Amino acid sequence: MAILKIVQYGNESLRQKSKEISKISKKIKILAENMIDTMYANNGVGLAAPQVGENIRMFVIDVSLDNEPYNPIVFINPKIIKKEGASHEKEGCLSFPNAFVDVRRYSYVKIKALDIHGKPFVIEAKDGSLLSRCIQHEFDHLEGILFIDHSRNIFEAIKVLEENNLPTVQKDKLLEEKEIEELLIHSEDKAQNNE
Ligand code: ZN
Repeated sequence: MAILKIVQYGNESLRQKSKEISKISKKIKILAENMIDTMYANNGVGLAAPQVGENIRMFVIDVSLDNEPYNPIVFINPKIIKKEGASHEKEGCLSFPNAFVDVRRYSYVKIKALDIHGKPFVIEAKDGSLLSRCIQHEFDHLEGILFIDHSRNIFEAIKVLEENNLPTVQKDKLLEEKEIEELLIHSEDKAQNNE
């Protein structure tokens, strides 16, 4: 087992689109184990291969609660096959130490992937749960997309990054996400009317 070095925001590896894994070799299996160890060592709930400088399509997550047994899940060559609804919450990333920003996500996702033995599996994550958000966050890493690209408030994001001595927001990478934002505004209006 080994704890790997996590690359920080500003490193080009975080902005690259990662390559499919053609064979789950011994090397890939060891990398997956090391990524799990690295995630735990940094108190993270997810870690994607580009965050350890490997631009291949693999990520690991563990969203189990503190009082639950460890439950690491390895996703190889994942594909999001369904996404619906909208949610938002503050999110962070191991490549952005101490920076938390309010971001838009789908509330529901269905994803298929291969496990470490090459066996396909499907996971559904609902209701803007941590699992749902975490899957979308890590999947994005494989596309070179970062959580700050989903910022609801660009000024907040710029401020948070500045406070943490990180490079600023790359405005050309920001995702517009008009539909999802409208859904969010609509659901916030509804919540207010029910108060
Ligand atoms: Zn991340």
